[in-house]
Amino acid sequence: MNFTKIDLGAIYPRCRMLLGPDIWQQIVSGHDLDRDPENFLEVIGSYKLHSQLPEFLPALARLEWGISQAKEKNISIPDDQEDSVINPTLLLLELQWKNLAYDVGSPSAEPPEPGNEYILIWKHPEGGEVHVRAASPEDLLVLKMISESIDRKKVAQIGAISTFAVDAAVERAVDRGIIIAPPSRIRRDFDIFEASPYAKKQFLISPSFTFQWHITQVCDLYCKHCYDRSDRSALTLGQALTIIDDLDTFCRERHVKGQISFTGGNPLMHPNFLSIYQAASDRGFTLFILGNPTTRAQIETLLSIQHPDFFQVSLEGLPAYNDFIRGKGHFERTMGFLEILRELEVYSMVMLTLTRENIHQVLPLADLLRGKADVFYFNRLSKVGQGESLELPPKQDYRSFL
Ligand code: SF4
Repeated sequence: MNFTKIDLGAIYPRCRMLLGPDIWQQIVSGHDLDRDPENFLEVIGSYKLHSQLPEFLPALARLEWGISQAKEKNISIPDDQEDSVINPTLLLLELQWKNLAYDVGSPSAEPPEPGNEYILIWKHPEGGEVHVRAASPEDLLVLKMISESIDRKKVAQIGAISTFAVDAAVERAVDRGIIIAPPSRIRRDFDIFEASPYAKKQFLISPSFTFQWHITQVCDLYCKHCYDRSDRSALTLGQALTIIDDLDTFCRERHVKGQISFTGGNPLMHPNFLSIYQAASDRGFTLFILGNPTTRAQIETLLSIQHPDFFQVSLEGLPAYNDFIRGKGHFERTMGFLEILRELEVYSMVMLTLTRENIHQVLPLADLLRGKADVFYFNRLSKVGQGESLELPPKQDYRSFL
């Protein structure tokens, strides 16, 4: 019977290196390992090790065998997967030697030493590369939670931590590829886009859902292009909490990361803004704020709850035109506020509403913002509300501007 010759040295590279060519050859030629390379574990375990050889070799061999097994495995993720599952290639090894994961990955990092250690070996579901890592208590907790289908709220309660902390631990395990999350259910119909060369599948599925939430109409500015200065009353705290819970359920059912972009009016002027922000943070939402310049103290209070992923303010052009639209002194206040955001390490964005009047001020303004804002972009004018009194840029100007 024919069989493919197995490259034993490729399966156990570090063992081979530590054994040295003579002993390696002695072991390989003295046993029928080509047919059954796993037997190397038994051979190395019972081999009368030379006194100068490291004692951890049998444990290292188990680790290298595990790595070779993970390389061979394939992962297929069904589109209709409903729950998070443990990566089917994952192998959990209990070894009597510590630091062997480092020994395989970067041999000089930490020397192996006797002691119990759990090692995780898995093939990443996206990249396909094999990872090796000493299991942390967090890894083991997440694996137990997923394998025994323990509810996240129960884990949070037992551990006296927030559900957000539990979700964040699961997310880290998903990022590492130890856990495979069910695919997002917010997706376009693949069949419709199949013909387009640009419609790669990953662009048709959204991993997140962003809710832009106008929580109040109240505002401290009176911009000339404001499209909604109606006097609808703000949401009550009870209504806001119900919406947050509904959104949480919506995102969970669709397996997407929920994001809330607070806006208004000026969202910071909602009488219960801090409680709403806290509730959204407790449920693990990524948070953004689209608002007006405020005090350092108010931003510090927000940061003590959760760092927003960005804070966006608006400018309408160079100082004179901006203040004509947004009110006297607004340009200077905004530049000062951007400095506060920078000092507090909050990612800042500046948005401009493009009109016939300011289209030629965009690039000079971009120069003024260089090094002061993280992102500067423009949006189109909505010719509704007070915005009706302003003009869109003429088509030709817009084309040449682009
Ligand atoms: S455009 Fe925005 S900042 Fe200006 S008045 Fe309207 S809500 Fe307030």
